Amino acid sequence: MLGGPAVRPEGPPEWPRRTAGTDAVLAQLRDSGDWGRYHGPHAAAISQAITATIGVEHLQLCSSGTVAVELALRAAQVRPGDEVILSAYDFKANFTNITLLGATPVLVDCRENDAQLDVSQVEAAITDKTKAIIASHLQGGLVEIAALREIADRRRIVLIEDVCQAPGANVSGRPAGAWGDIATFSFGGSKLITAGRGGAVVTSRPELAQRIKLFTQRGNDAYPLSEIQAALLLPQWKQLATDNARRWETVQQLGDLRGLRRFGVTDSNHPAFYKVGFWYDPAAYVGLPRDRFCQALRAEGIPFDPGFAGLHQIHARRRFRAIGELPTAARACAQVVMLHHPLLLEGTVAVEQIWAALDKVAQHATMLRDASLPTAPNHRD
Ligand SMILES: *Cc1c(COP(=O)(O)O)cnc(C)c1O
Repeated sequence: MLGGPAVRPEGPPEWPRRTAGTDAVLAQLRDSGDWGRYHGPHAAAISQAITATIGVEHLQLCSSGTVAVELALRAAQVRPGDEVILSAYDFKANFTNITLLGATPVLVDCRENDAQLDVSQVEAAITDKTKAIIASHLQGGLVEIAALREIADRRRIVLIEDVCQAPGANVSGRPAGAWGDIATFSFGGSKLITAGRGGAVVTSRPELAQRIKLFTQRGNDAYPLSEIQAALLLPQWKQLATDNARRWETVQQLGDLRGLRRFGVTDSNHPAFYKVGFWYDPAAYVGLPRDRFCQALRAEGIPFDPGFAGLHQIHARRRFRAIGELPTAARACAQVVMLHHPLLLEGTVAVEQIWAALDKVAQHATMLRDASLPTAPNHRD
C-alpha cells in the first residue's frame, strides 16, 4: 500500500473457479439447447441433490438468497404487527425482509466467542407477537442451533435457519439447514456454490412448502432459477464436501495470527467458510485502525474486509425493538474482520502468504497508521 511489491501481486484467486465439471455442463447446455428451456432436467437434479444431502422433504429453487428468506418469512405467515427475532449482527437483507412484510425485527445480541446469535438471550425476546426466529450461521461460525431448536419447539415459533454462508456445514451432528423448520441457501456470485444469482428454500413441513408454492406459482414461477443456473450448481454441489474439508484444513493451518482471534468452533462441528471471521485487536498493530488494516492486506493481495455494520446502527430506532444494549454486536461491528474464502482452497501456499502479509503489515504498522492515504471501498457482504 506504501509502494513496493505485494505478497500476492495477482490478488485473490478467481471465483467462481472453472472446473472440468462446469465446462462439461456448459458444453452440454450449448449442445442440447437446454439453456433456453423453462423446465428441464437440471433444476430437478440439483433439487434432488440438495434435499438428499440436507435430509429434507421439500425444496423450492428461487432467484436469490434474499428471496429465499422472504419466502421463508411468508411461509411462517409473518404479517404486519408480528415480531421476528434475529441477531443485531446479521446480513442486512434479513432485517429488510422483515420490515417489508410490515413486521418488527427484534434484535438480540451476539456472542463474545464467535459473533453468532446469542441463543441464551432469545427467550427474553419472545412475546405473543413472535412469529419466527432467523438464525444465520455467519463468517465461519455456527449458531448454537440445537439449543435454539429446543426453544422454538417449546415456544412454538418457526425457526428459519439461514445457511447462505454455510452450505455443507455440520452442526451438532446434523447438516446445517436440517435444524430449521425452514432453511435458506444463496447461490450469489461470491458464495461457496454459485450461479451468479440464485437461491433455495427447504423444509420438511408440508404446510410451509405448500405456502411457498402458492406464493411463487402464478401460472409460472415468479422467482425462477434458470436451467443454466441449475446445471452449473450441480457439479459444485458434488464438490462441496471436499472443498469444505480443504478450507477447514487451511484455516486450522493458519494457527494463531497476530492480533486476530478466530471465531470459536466446537470440536464436533464442521464449519463452512464463506468468510473466516476474526476479532481484530488494533493494539497488536500499534493502533492501526481496522479499515486500514484490511486495506493494507488487500493491497498485499489478501482479501480481508471489515465485518457487517450493526443492524441497530444502520436503521432508525423506531424500525426495531432491541433486547438490551447490544454491546457485543456493537463491538463486532467495530472489530470484526473477515477473510474471503477463495484463498482457502490453495492450502499451504495461501497460509504462507497470509503469514507473510500479516508480518509485513506488523512491520510497517506505524507508517501505515500515520500515512495520509485515500480509503478504499470495503466489501461488507
Ligand atoms: C448472501 C446472504 C444472503 C442473501 O443472498 P443473496 O443471494 O445475495 O440474495 C442472505 N443471508 C446471508 C447470511 C448471506 O450471506
